[in-house]
Amino acid sequence: MTENNVILLGPPASGKGTQARQLAAHLDVPCLGTGKLLRNEIDNGSVIGLEAKEFIESGQYVPDEIILKMVETWLSENPHGWLMDGFPRTIPQAEALQESAMPTRVIVLDVPQDELEFRITKRRECTSCGVTFAVNSNDDNTCPECGTNTLVSRADDALESFKVRYQNYKELTLPLFDYYASLGLLNKVDGTSSPEEVFSEILKIVES
Ligand code: ADP
Repeated sequence: MTENNVILLGPPASGKGTQARQLAAHLDVPCLGTGKLLRNEIDNGSVIGLEAKEFIESGQYVPDEIILKMVETWLSENPHGWLMDGFPRTIPQAEALQESAMPTRVIVLDVPQDELEFRITKRRECTSCGVTFAVNSNDDNTCPECGTNTLVSRADDALESFKVRYQNYKELTLPLFDYYASLGLLNKVDGTSSPEEVFSEILKIVES
């Protein structure tokens, strides 16, 4: 059987994390979420965390060399079959990945800016189990995954920080579309449909 090495690309709040969780379980492969890994490093007070903190909180991309160090370690532990959520985000990151492991599918979640801004205001992260999802009301404080009342808005989900991230996405990540299209790997999915519909579109691509 051929390996599934899948990259999920998309702007902040496009639903990558939600889809990545389901897809990794479905394919039975480990998932690398670089944003989540970086937040763990910050919580642990590690050197990488200390280096990354300011960039993340102001909405900037973390420098390539920090990300690549982290991803290299992860890939050496998970070399065969993987899902990447949030990596690569720049051309140098994509080129570095190409040297160590070949993606088999690249899937872009397409969501327009106004919908992303709306979603950002509803996004919460559970400080107990780490899951990220959308709440229906601002009073909602219970995690649907682990049931604790420990939901917070992420520090980088303020609207100003979102705008910086979105601008960076357009400048630094959009060029990856052409990069992966030229390798014949790029697939786009309408990310505005329901999570179930998006997942079924993703499955069609992965199983094609
Ligand atoms: P989102 O998809 O909403 O941006 P993530 O949790 O994936 O959220 O990422 C949070 C932050 O972590 C990003 O805004 C960025 O600062 C940093 N980050 C994550 N992955 C990368 C990466 N591959 N390259 C540079 N910075 C990254």
